[in-house]
Amino acid sequence: MSKMTTGTYDLVVVGAGIIGLATAWTARQRGMRVAVVERNARAIGASVRNFGFITVTGQRSGAHWQRARDTAAIWRQVAPLAGIEIVHEGLHVLAQRPEAVAVLEAFMKTEMGEGCTWVRSDNARPHWPWLQPGLALLHSPHECRVESRDAIGRLSQWLEQSQGVDFYWNTPVHGIALPEIATSRGSLRAAHCVVCPGNDLNTLFPEVLAQAGIRQCTLQMMRVSPGQAVKLPSAFMSDLSLIRYEGYANLPEAQALKTRLQSEQSAALAQGIHLIVVQSADGSLVVGDSHVYGDAEDPFASADTEALIMREFHQILCLPRAEVVARWNGSYASAEDVAFKARPTVGVALGVVTGGTGASTSFAFARELLDLALAP
Ligand SMILES: Cc1cc2nc3c(=O)[nH]c(=O)nc-3n(C[C@H](O)[C@H](O)[C@H](O)COP(=O)(O)OP(=O)(O)OC[C@H]3O[C@@H](n4cnc5c(N)ncnc54)[C@H](O)[C@@H]3O)c2cc1C
Repeated sequence: MSKMTTGTYDLVVVGAGIIGLATAWTARQRGMRVAVVERNARAIGASVRNFGFITVTGQRSGAHWQRARDTAAIWRQVAPLAGIEIVHEGLHVLAQRPEAVAVLEAFMKTEMGEGCTWVRSDNARPHWPWLQPGLALLHSPHECRVESRDAIGRLSQWLEQSQGVDFYWNTPVHGIALPEIATSRGSLRAAHCVVCPGNDLNTLFPEVLAQAGIRQCTLQMMRVSPGQAVKLPSAFMSDLSLIRYEGYANLPEAQALKTRLQSEQSAALAQGIHLIVVQSADGSLVVGDSHVYGDAEDPFASADTEALIMREFHQILCLPRAEVVARWNGSYASAEDVAFKARPTVGVALGVVTGGTGASTSFAFARELLDLALAP
């Protein structure tokens, strides 16, 4: 690739993960001339390794839940335009302990329960013989799912080909002093810049990112062949999710569930395991995940962790011939708060979703980042 010398933009976005792409789309909606600069040949980070699960129900109450609601609505608008299939909609949570039922009952009394319904087991069982018995089944209609490993590439292609966004691939950005954006291949000029570095905390504004108290969180994921014909009506979660997702876990009723799960599932909890199962168009299932924290991404996947995740899988899905057919690790920048944003200098915004929910909150967060970069 030749050296860049001439690009001049209203906005340069650093990073072609979902936060960067959502920011580029938002800026184009506002009529700005936009470029995205990505250090790799294509996005290979958290945004393509995740479930592609746009989760609303279970997000931390308040602003973050609202971000997820807004983002799900925008995904539904943008996905068909970008040729991205919504693979399935909604979420079922199967509660198998009385303490889990109590958490869901409390959740239903909050504003976040709006639109969610109980599914009677005599309705579910005949249609879904592969579903293990439970005490209650909650349905949320708010979620949707895209196949992230393809969807992120499609989104960038569409932004480039139909929305007039310029992309510079294989181009690490190593310094920003507006109007100059210094890259490994020369400079770009821009009035504003939004930096969406994902879990790269060391290249741009490391001292600012250090304020966020960020650690790396490594997750193990699998693709599972169900071993028989099965069509999931939505994503599925189990009791473990109710002490992990803050929209449930912060409810006082979650304490009793935590105590019970600590005694029954301590090995799973030590690996930060909870269960999400989503389905792809070819029928295979994406299953995860675990959460292990450290100062760097853990490159090594553990067979024990995989076995613990699969044990929870079989706990809620009766698919005895299910078989793991692919495995991968992913990592995201994690902190106490669910999102970090800063304005290191006038015209520049820096943003990381630190709650492991960037696919679900990207488009709303992008609006906030753009407003921050444009603020006088
Ligand atoms: C296994 C896993 C499962 C998950 N499941 C879900 C889920 O189901 N739902 C959900 O909402 N969230 C989920 N998440 C979280 C979600 O994937 C992340 O929050 C989100 O993808 C973060 O997007 P991002 O754009 O900030 O980061 P990334 O996808 O990491 O993208 C950042 C990009 O910036 C580039 N970059 C960084 N620095 C520079 C630089 N100096 N110059 C040029 N380029 C640079 C990187 O190369 C990278 O491509 C999951 C995460 C993982 C790991």
